Parts: sequence; C-alpha cells; structure tokens
Amino acid sequence: MTKYKLEYIWLDGYTPVPNLRGKTQIKEYDSFPTLEDLPLWGFDGSSTMQAEGHSSDCVLKPIRVFPDAARVNGVLVLCEVMMPDGVTPHATNKRATILDDEGAWFGFEQEYFFYKDGRPLGFPAAGFPPPQGGYYTGVGYSNVGPVARQIVEEHLDLCLAAGINHEGINAEVAKGQWEFQIFGKGSKRAADEMWMARYLLQRLCEKYEIDIEYHCKPLGDTDWNGSGMHANFSTEYLRTVGGKEYFEKLMAQFDKNLMDHIAVYGPDNDKRLTGKHETAPWNKFSYGVADRGASIRVPHSFIKNDYKGYLEDRRPNSQGDPYQIASQILKTISEVPTSASVSAAA
Ligand code: ADP
Ligand code: MN
Ligand code: MN
Ligand code: MN
Repeated sequence: MTKYKLEYIWLDGYTPVPNLRGKTQIKEYDSFPTLEDLPLWGFDGSSTMQAEGHSSDCVLKPIRVFPDAARVNGVLVLCEVMMPDGVTPHATNKRATILDDEGAWFGFEQEYFFYKDGRPLGFPAAGFPPPQGGYYTGVGYSNVGPVARQIVEEHLDLCLAAGINHEGINAEVAKGQWEFQIFGKGSKRAADEMWMARYLLQRLCEKYEIDIEYHCKPLGDTDWNGSGMHANFSTEYLRTVGGKEYFEKLMAQFDKNLMDHIAVYGPDNDKRLTGKHETAPWNKFSYGVADRGASIRVPHSFIKNDYKGYLEDRRPNSQGDPYQIASQILKTISEVPTSASVSAAA
C-alpha cells in the first residue's frame, strides 16, 4: 500500500468570479486511485460563501482525477460541490447542469497577467515600461524579463504530466501578459481541464511570490491590452456537414442571443470589448473572415472547406467560467435546425 496525497479542488461561492479552493487528505491505495476509489468529502461552506442557512456542511464529489507531478504520490481531485445529501448540486455548482456533447470540441485561449507588487511583472514602480510592440511572442530579457518563461515552462510540464490537453504558449501583447491554450472534446472535459490548468498556474506561482491577474482589463482605460479567453468551437455537424446556409442561420442565432452570451462571458467585458485593440464592441454582434475585430472570427480554412470546421468566439474574457461559456455556445447551436433535424421533422 502507498500513501497518496489527495488534493480535493473545487470552486467556491464568490461572485462574480469563483475562486479555486483545495485541501489535502492522505489515503492508502495499492495503486494510483481511480475516480471510483475516491470518497466524498466535506468542507465548511460558511468560509467559502457556500453555507446554506444554519448548516454549513457542503459535500465534495470527485469528478476528475489527475496525477500531481509537483508532489510525491500526489493526486489532483477535481470536485463538484453538492448539498449535504451528497446528490443535489449546490447552487454554486454550475458544472452539474451545463449542456455537454462529446462531439463538441472546444479550444480555449487563456490570457492573463503575472502580477507582482500590485502591477504587471516587469512594470517599473513608477510610470510604464516601453509601449506595446515587442512583447507579443517576444524573446529576450527586456521583453519577457528573468522569470516568466521559467514559470510558463514549468506550468506546461505540470499540465502535460497531469494529462491535461495543454496545446501551446505565447507571450502576449502587454508586458507581463501571457497565454496558454487548452483543447478538449466535450464542454465538461475542456472546461475541467481549463480550471485545473488555472489551479496549477496559481499554485506554481506561490513560490515565485507572483499572482495571476485574470481581470479582463487590469490596466483600465489605457493603451495596454486586456485579456480574453477566446473560445474556439466546432460540433460534429459543423465539422462534417456545415454549409453556407447553416452557417448564416447559426450567426443569426448568435446575434439574437447576444445578451445571453455576454452574461456568461466574464465580468467587466464592456471595459475590454470597446471596439479598440482588436476587439468588437460588446453590445453589437459581428462576424468576419480572418477578422480579429469581429465577435466571431471565421478562419480562412472554414470558408475554403465549404463552410466546415471551427469558429472562434473572441468575446469570452479571461475571468469567464469555461463551463458556462461552452454551455451557452452549445445552447445557441442547439436552437438552429440542422438539415438532418429538418428532414426528420418533415
Ligand atoms: P489564435 O491566437 O490565432 O486565435 P491559437 O492557436 O491561440 O489561435 O488558438 C486556436 C485554438 O483553436 C486552439 O485552442 C485549438 O485547440 C482550437 N481549435 C483548433 N481546431 C479546432 C476545432 N476543430 N474545434 C475546436 N477548437 C479547435
Ligand atoms: Mn491565441
Ligand atoms: Mn491571444
Ligand atoms: Mn484567438
């Protein structure tokens, strides 16, 4: 038997953006535990904005298990928060009720700032560093500083060791700003891995005395970029059938549902989606081929391939909840009849 360190991880009840929480318990197993091996656990919801009335017990239900390469015999246990009965999802548990579909693929591009001493990593104590230009995909100490690359590399290795589908890294447009991409098949799978990747990044940065700033416009109304979490998506139908007519109906439905999307695309998005800095205004839907100033960017490959493939919704922001973002995209898609559903109804 081996003693494993089980880190139970969940989302708390803070609004508008939940925080990641975690605590450890040690259990003995013959080999690396599977989901079925992991018991329910509890925590004090009164300390996480999840208490219900006078009873403060909440239940943690394991839903995904990942190896934790940062610890000897470490296990990352992603959990849903349940009511004391262990079966009713807590009101803060959004994952329990989202739409899912294994044929729907999501690629999230998480942008964020490293923050130290209350400002982006590499910003001087007073004033500003040289303006944006050289930082995006930049190389060299004056562009990326002494430590950021070490962190993003370590984060990549932690994600890969955990089996998380981390797909890539780039330094972003503002100084101290970076991006990584996570791809997954199914909204739960993709969003679970994004939350775990966020957790690993935040935990890793503790030893560097650096925080992750996920706010979508941390430097306010300046010429410094904000942070998004572009959501690239495709369904089985979009990849294999698609077509111009279906695409145009789909875009019309995205236009109609504009406010439902914005409601779950992250707080303060009006401060980011201003129409400047390669963004579309938050309150007007648009789409365009290879257009980085549109709400939805249509890749060249999509048009060339007879309107088949994936689309990029550029509006979700860096603080958005990937569960709710993916679910809203699937909801809008589900409202547009496909040729299969049209002929079935006829
Ligand atoms: P850019 O910065 O040019 O917008 P990235 O390379 O950062 O592009 O991100 C592209 C994303 O698109 C990746 O996360 C990738 O996984 C995702 N993607 C590619 N093909 C598909 C697909 N068929 N369905 C869903 N997402 C996809
Ligand atoms: Mn990108
Ligand atoms: Mn980017
Ligand atoms: Mn993008």
